[in-house]
Amino acid sequence: MAMILNGKEVSARIKDELRDEVKAMKARGIEPGLAVILVGDDPASAVYVRNKKLACEYIRINSFEYILPKETSEAELIELIQKLNNDSSVSGILCQLPLPEHISEEAVINAIDPKKDVDAFHPVNVGKIMTGNYDFVPCTPAGVMELIKESGIDVAGKECVVVGRSNIVGKPMAMLLLHQHGTVTICHSRTKELAEKTRCADILIAAVGIPEFIKGDMIKPGAVVIDVGINRIAPKKLVGDVEFDTAEKLAAAITPVPGGVGPMTIAMLMKNTLKAAELNKTC
Ligand code: NAD
Repeated sequence: MAMILNGKEVSARIKDELRDEVKAMKARGIEPGLAVILVGDDPASAVYVRNKKLACEYIRINSFEYILPKETSEAELIELIQKLNNDSSVSGILCQLPLPEHISEEAVINAIDPKKDVDAFHPVNVGKIMTGNYDFVPCTPAGVMELIKESGIDVAGKECVVVGRSNIVGKPMAMLLLHQHGTVTICHSRTKELAEKTRCADILIAAVGIPEFIKGDMIKPGAVVIDVGINRIAPKKLVGDVEFDTAEKLAAAITPVPGGVGPMTIAMLMKNTLKAAELNKTC
């Protein structure tokens, strides 16, 4: 049976460390604050925003919430972002995606000051991730790296297979593994013979968005399996992109869904917010 990589526990430990860090920052006169913008009434996004606010409260930093109607125009949203860019009480800015169709996500991401871009989606920060000299690590891939560390496996020289090539998860994930000297393969919807590739993985990351897509027979015995997927298959039932029951019999370590990567993403967002507060400090 696989070791369960418990993201709830690891993230709780990290948030406790961050709470101590906040105390020390406040003693130095630095007051971190995170602005979170939600446009529209997507229920999943509303849950994510609420969890981010709770995490801010837990580590004792300010959170500023902007819940805007779905009719908000792109110009109005960008005007708000510019206001937050110039507000010294705001260290980090996050605009919850997806946005309504009439708003360009690219335009909105580009409007955020790269020094306040705690999601690390701005092209300046994406470029820094490529070079390895970055201020902010994108939250979900950063959380995955923490869980891999928890498994005790050293990434250097390992075969790492990332299934999914999104800008938010797959691509930055591959870069972080590469920076730690993994041999990285990125698979996607046009990949041929996918199972042959996943079966070579010492470290397998699934970020596909299809419920239980990775079955046990696609996993190399002894692999570390990280499931980024969050798929709601019934009102109260979430599953990942990995078929947990068959995978855990083969894997050396595996993340559950829920309680794996999800809580880690929020802990990493808090970490980035403290980093932003340091970067933007005026004293
Ligand atoms: P996305 O839809 O942007 O990308 C999905 C990727 O999967 C694409 O690159 C696509 O090429 C690939 N794909 C699709 N079908 C495939 C197939 N048949 N074979 C191989 N590859 C295939 O999704 P995303 O934003 O990267 O998110 C992926 C999953 O992770 C979703 O379930 C999402 O909800 C979840 N997610 C979780 C967190 C977290 O904090 N845990 C954060 C972000 C996303």
